[in-house]
Amino acid sequence: MSVLYIRQSDGSFEKVPVTPENTQRYIQSVDLYREDDDPMFWSKDKIRDMQDPLFKRQMEWVWDGHDFYKSLFKENGIEPGDLTTLDDLEKIPLTYKKDYMADPDAFKLKPSEPTILDWIFEVTYTTGSTTGVPTPFWSTIHDEHGIWQLLFRGIKLGGFPPYARVMNLFPVGPVPHIGFFRARDIGMWGVGCLNMYGCTGMPNAEFPVHRSMDYAIDLIESGKAEVWLGIASFMRRLLMKAEQEGRDFSSVKHVQALGEACPQAMRDDMRNRLKNMGAEDPFISNSYGFTEMQGAMPECTEFSGCHNPSPNLYFFEVVDEETGKRVADGERGLFCITHLNRRGTVLLRYVIGDIGAMTNETCPHCGRNGGRTVIAVGSTYATRTAELVKLKGTLINPEIMRDGLANTPGVQEYQIIFTKKDLEDPYSLDDLIVKIAPEDGFDTKKMETEIQTKLMTAVEMRAKIEFVSMEEIFDPTVALKAYRVLDLRPKLD
Ligand SMILES: [Zn+2]
Repeated sequence: MSVLYIRQSDGSFEKVPVTPENTQRYIQSVDLYREDDDPMFWSKDKIRDMQDPLFKRQMEWVWDGHDFYKSLFKENGIEPGDLTTLDDLEKIPLTYKKDYMADPDAFKLKPSEPTILDWIFEVTYTTGSTTGVPTPFWSTIHDEHGIWQLLFRGIKLGGFPPYARVMNLFPVGPVPHIGFFRARDIGMWGVGCLNMYGCTGMPNAEFPVHRSMDYAIDLIESGKAEVWLGIASFMRRLLMKAEQEGRDFSSVKHVQALGEACPQAMRDDMRNRLKNMGAEDPFISNSYGFTEMQGAMPECTEFSGCHNPSPNLYFFEVVDEETGKRVADGERGLFCITHLNRRGTVLLRYVIGDIGAMTNETCPHCGRNGGRTVIAVGSTYATRTAELVKLKGTLINPEIMRDGLANTPGVQEYQIIFTKKDLEDPYSLDDLIVKIAPEDGFDTKKMETEIQTKLMTAVEMRAKIEFVSMEEIFDPTVALKAYRVLDLRPKLD
């Protein structure tokens, strides 16, 4: 059960349920929250009155220096001045991941008169691309300040206890992803937050800086971590290990499970394990985040919907898969994001790769406006589209893996299997298995090394490689064609 922690003058906390009234009490109890003119509490009309001029200005920036959209607009007969309010958005065709991945530089704004705020502050990467190279997403100094405001408002929205000890359980990946780095920034923008870092991740033999899950467990216990951020299934695996070891996790109050769906049964499972380790009814939250928004949409309470924390930065819409037209509130379709105030990578009507639903109604739990997702399937917000697959919390494109395997010398046939560490346990970690039927006479050790290297580049993951007979993958007596990609994971709902 989620509660708000209202800080008392003696530093203790009063715990209250999430209601619009208590949300206001919570905001009033923290100076920085009270002083923030947060558009999520504005009327829907006032929010739109802010967004339209931002969109108009963004379109001027696009006409000034965005290679991809300038040419897309020309192809579609769109003239400067045709796009002035968000009602004009539907004139713009949808942008798909494959467009962006094919030429990420064409999505980077190149203003004719840049200022110091246009200098690149950082680059993070989405995984998978048509070329097999992670796709860069550039943020300028201007953008970064917007992201910091987003994080501040997200922490406020998620109801983090002020002065919390925060545990960053995202892995430090081989290339920078938003997970670890945005969770790091929580320490900058959370009120009084103290951050700790698990620093797990794939080791680098030359610089053995990465740390173990045991280290993370020790840190949570001895550092008395209160708020966690990480990939849902990784945190659950950590919880299972810690529970077996009889750890004391009594400090844990709030878990932000990100990167993948965290349905009801998985939340209950995590909460029960935490309770068994002494935690008092912790809030298991499932925020919806992705690289192209550089942060996450948090829940104000369990299953409230994931709120857009920054209507001044992003406009979200759900569109029909076939027609590209916006669908009504509550109807399912493709999630799309439009940037309203960005100077680095700029995306318009960008299809994130998930199917879900949204509402623009005021949230009955916290009283916020600005749009939020609603439960689309069972107890989850979004399901995957066919183009990309979510594995270990990361969207990957199986097509790149297929391409890499098919082009490896000695591979006669192959099969890519998405599965679970334990198929009986739908919330256990994802696993990637690649079965290879080698041609006679090829050095399988060498092939394995080559395939691992290709997979690392393509999807930043290691696979279990198994060399098998041709019949095991493809038996023409029972199947008409080879199934090269299998997803054995149970469907969550
Ligand atoms: Zn709410």
